[in-house]
Amino acid sequence: MLVAIVGPMFAGKTTELIRRVERYVIAGRRAVVFKPSIDARYDPASVAAHNGLKLNAVVVPPDEGGVKAIYKLGQRYDVVAVDEVQFFPPALADVLNKLADGRVVIAAGLNLDFRGEPFETTARLMAYADRVISLTAVCKICGRPATRTQRLVAGKPAPRDSPRIVVGGVETYEARCRLHHRVN
Ligand SMILES: [Zn+2]
Repeated sequence: MLVAIVGPMFAGKTTELIRRVERYVIAGRRAVVFKPSIDARYDPASVAAHNGLKLNAVVVPPDEGGVKAIYKLGQRYDVVAVDEVQFFPPALADVLNKLADGRVVIAAGLNLDFRGEPFETTARLMAYADRVISLTAVCKICGRPATRTQRLVAGKPAPRDSPRIVVGGVETYEARCRLHHRVN
């Protein structure tokens, strides 16, 4: 079974991923959580010791080597979880689709980049998924459900030609609804 958890930043995707993995751990299943090494916000300890449950957390590079490592290591577990899938090449989706034959795969990722364009890996994952869980955040401007991630540079919408991947938190990104999402 392949479950895709998708949405903008601040929608609680990681929380939902961990919540689901924990249920399998309580049920005695062997689970592993993979995270890309690019994500500076990642604290291995917080995943490894969440709610006192031991989750096997593995940090892998977001490249072809990382995808191969997930495929090889993932085969040893009943439950394979991957967070921040948008950082990996689209081949990750094919590998997770294969792993989902005979085990549970739960993968979370950003739906759209700051321009509002789909991340290929997340889009491919959604196509393979048996179930897609689409989470929303809260629009910083109007308070309605937010499906977009707004990138800001000095408080203004980021220019369209700026790099696709910029790791950041609340000072760089905001959740926005369709109406309030802006690209410069
Ligand atoms: Zn709004």
